[in-house]
Amino acid sequence: MTDTAHFRKVIQNRLEELGVRMHDIDEELGHQKTRDLSDQAIDLEDDEVLEGLGQAAEREVDLLKRALARIEDGTYGICLSCGDEISKERLEAVPYAPLCRNCVSGGKS
Ligand SMILES: [Zn+2]
Repeated sequence: MTDTAHFRKVIQNRLEELGVRMHDIDEELGHQKTRDLSDQAIDLEDDEVLEGLGQAAEREVDLLKRALARIEDGTYGICLSCGDEISKERLEAVPYAPLCRNCVSGGKS
């Protein structure tokens, strides 16, 4: 039986962290637009890196929100593909994991 109360807390903490980080990235991007033209070439590179980080964070937020929804409807910790229980160790490492280890690695069959 998966300890959903524990993982709900883990996921909510992670969402909070990511929320703060995305805010920081937005601010950083905002600041860069106001800089001198002479800095622009460097800024463009920085922007791409920051936007990449922002996208990764958004994707994780999306996955975490889906995991929260699964906690609410009682399907959290159950593999979406094969219906097996996902191991606690795996959920500790990846709290939003929608699939068990077998299915992630291509399945048994
Ligand atoms: Zn599975």
